[in-house]
Formats: sequence, structure tokens, C-alpha cells
Amino acid sequence: MILMSVSELAGKGFEGIEKRIIECTACTLHETVTNKVISKGSKTPKVVFVGEAPGKNEDETGIPFCGRAGKNLDRMIDYMGLSKNEYTVINTIKCRPPNNRNPLKKEINACRPFMLAQIQILDPRVIILLGNTAEKAFCSKDKLEWGIPKTIDNRYSLLKLYHPAALIYQRSRIDEQNEHIDRNRHLWDMNE
Ligand code: SF4
Repeated sequence: MILMSVSELAGKGFEGIEKRIIECTACTLHETVTNKVISKGSKTPKVVFVGEAPGKNEDETGIPFCGRAGKNLDRMIDYMGLSKNEYTVINTIKCRPPNNRNPLKKEINACRPFMLAQIQILDPRVIILLGNTAEKAFCSKDKLEWGIPKTIDNRYSLLKLYHPAALIYQRSRIDEQNEHIDRNRHLWDMNE
């Protein structure tokens, strides 16, 4: 299967991208999924959260971040003060890797055009990369520091925060994550 370019995909609109994700066989992960996991949230968000890969609950429901890590993400979004129409959640790859293993580089590369087209169409003010996999997928050459924003093309800010699943197993990081959020509130709190 030949994937379309990012701008061709973005030109198809939300429904067009969704259709192509559902039809996609660009890597072997499609062979073992129950549902592809595409996005949840606003179509005109201030903030887009980019996670890693769907887990068991997400695969069963087709909804991103609906399990235990999702509860932590909800708490984080609450702490950020974002309302429902101000954010969208997507993943780096749309199919669950078997046994929740880390996505392979070739799988991330195959799925990247979908993630980039989703972001292009959503056109957020802030892109929050949840963990190292999302960072590698979005900006493979530039390493970001945790909680230190970077402005891209004078258009939007990139911010790397801990993945909500990491907060389940390392609760000491919650305070650190909250400090990162407090330092960066201006990125999403500014007036239109
Ligand atoms: S992970 Fe992405 S590239 Fe691979 S089959 Fe699923 S939708 Fe296609």
C-alpha cells in the first residue's frame, strides 16, 4: 500500500483521514487489531496531546486513553484547566502493538503521515508530546527537554511532558509534571 503525503491526507479532511486509517495496511500491526484508534476531542483545539500507541482498552473500544493512563491524562488536563472543546488526543500510531510492546521504528515511520496530517488539520497552538516515543515520531532530529517548550515557525509550541502511564508507576513524578505545567500555562492560557 502506498501512503499519501501529509498534505494530500490533510486535504481529505477529518473523515478522509479516518477512512484511510481504517483502510491502512502499511505495516503488519493492522493484522492483529480489534479497532484502529484514531482520536478523541475537539476539532478546533488549542492543545493536541500526542500519546504513544493504543493499549488493550483502547484496542477494544477504539478510543484513545480510555484506561488507567487515560484517568491520569484526565487529571492532568483538569490541572491544566482545559475544557473539553479546547483539546484533542491522538496517538503516534493507530494500531496496538501485540502485548503492548514498544512500537518499532518502521511502524512509527509508516504511521507518521497520519499523525502529521491530523495535527496539520487541527492546527493547534500547542502540541504536547507525551513521552519519548511521541517525541521521536514528531521531531526525530531535535531532542526536547522535559517541560521546556520550543516554538516552531512562530506558529505553535512543542512541549514534552511525561506520559500519563509513567505517572502510574512513578508517582513521585506527578509533582514534577505539575511544575512543568505551571511553568507553561501561558502557552494555552493566552487570549485569542
Ligand atoms: S499502525 Fe498505522 S501504518 Fe500501521 S497499519 Fe495501523 S494505521 Fe497503518
